[in-house]
Amino acid sequence: MSNSPYLASILKQAEQRDGDKPEFLQAVKEVLATIAPAVDANPAYEATGLLERFIEPERFVQFRVAWVDDEGKTRVNRGYRVQFNSAIGPYKGGLRLHPTVNESIIKFLGFEQVLKNSLTGLPMGGGKGGSDFNPKGKSDAEVMRFCQAFMTELQRHIGPFTDVPAGDIGVGGREIGFLFGQYKRIRDEWSGVLTGKALSYGGSLARTEATGYGLLYYTEEALNKLRNDSFEGKTVAISGSGNVAVFATEKAQSLGAKVVTASDSNGYVYDPNGINLDILKDIKVDHRGRIKEYADRVSSATYSDNRTDIWTVPVDIALPCATQNEIDGASAKKLVDNGVKVVAEGANMPSTPEAIDVYRDNNVLYGPAKAANAGGVAVSGLEMSQNSERLSWSFDDVDGRLKTIMTNIVAKSMDAAAKFSTPDDLMSGANIAGFEKVADAMLAQGIL
Ligand code: NDP
Repeated sequence: MSNSPYLASILKQAEQRDGDKPEFLQAVKEVLATIAPAVDANPAYEATGLLERFIEPERFVQFRVAWVDDEGKTRVNRGYRVQFNSAIGPYKGGLRLHPTVNESIIKFLGFEQVLKNSLTGLPMGGGKGGSDFNPKGKSDAEVMRFCQAFMTELQRHIGPFTDVPAGDIGVGGREIGFLFGQYKRIRDEWSGVLTGKALSYGGSLARTEATGYGLLYYTEEALNKLRNDSFEGKTVAISGSGNVAVFATEKAQSLGAKVVTASDSNGYVYDPNGINLDILKDIKVDHRGRIKEYADRVSSATYSDNRTDIWTVPVDIALPCATQNEIDGASAKKLVDNGVKVVAEGANMPSTPEAIDVYRDNNVLYGPAKAANAGGVAVSGLEMSQNSERLSWSFDDVDGRLKTIMTNIVAKSMDAAAKFSTPDDLMSGANIAGFEKVADAMLAQGIL
């Protein structure tokens, strides 16, 4: 961290104001520490209070979501939307439905989204939203009633030129459909106000695959440029078994790697023969089942209900794709002791600061979330373009653009890192490259 009194004062202010929001503070501290040299190099930032504005969302809304369950009982959840920064485009970022959702989680995700969207090179600002509603175990009718109630309030804050939400944990095609239908009914307009839509009503080919595939394009490029290596023949641990994990597994296998793990919030499976993708998809995508069923169906696989032990499996490459802070310092140490060479993040902020220190101290090639998992929002941006044009591009067209965006992110990160650190410091590089574009736009637009 630099000795700059300006940065120290920003950090102090964040601690005072947001000390009760640990995930948000964690994200802010990480970014401030790594962009310090770029901030020191540009006195205009301090002169215009740019960092004070950068860490403060433009708007944060919290609202009541009341709905009726299948037994006729009234349920009340909390809904959120943070509109963090619109300097380079309309707010853009997913909606998360999970019982752990709170103000800290939404603000950390929104803050990260600003930098991630900037890195894609597309004109998108950053936002995020969600609710502490738990879709697990709910009927389709209950999920629909919840989504309709949620959108009844959210619709007054969003729009195709204002704020364009998408999916995240717990929000897939089913939920986006219900949300979109309710927006259309209330506003009496068909517009590209949500991304991640089904193909029948304005969705983009390759959006479902985008985050997982993008993670692999990014990591393959980084391996190639910084280690002269590739996925071919590597053993890989992937956590999670949702949208990101499944398509990361698919692309890793097609690049010649063997993926040996999958998990959910209850436990993980280890399959030394390599995960059978058809069975994984059948359990998790087609039937919303639990990962334990994989071990019941595949004799070479074992199940453990200690979720964090997934990182004790010896692998060359680890791709955390479940949730925040799923790799702590001890898990990172285990990975390193067992020979891991690369960690790239499909999930948002899956590594704690202590874990990142372990990667750094042991020369692990580390691909931070805001760069490595930007493929999802990148293709969401491409879905917005297709909606505006009233056209649909082919799978290969979208996938090709995704690949170009992910390889460009590696190049931008390496260039920014080389200016202030070493080219393989992809974390500093991503933070600086993402920040400088947003900061330039904020400077140009005056004090807002
Ligand atoms: P899904 O809901 O499809 O899957 C989430 C997976 O993570 C499930 O296997 C889930 O298990 C597990 N999980 C969720 N919460 C926890 C928890 N608290 N502890 C342990 N495991 C948990 O979500 P996605 O695949 O879309 O998202 C995964 C990660 O990727 C998130 O961090 C998300 O923010 C990030 N991401 C997603 C993008 C996208 O396009 N979808 C884009 C960029 C980032 P269980 O079923 O038991 O809950």
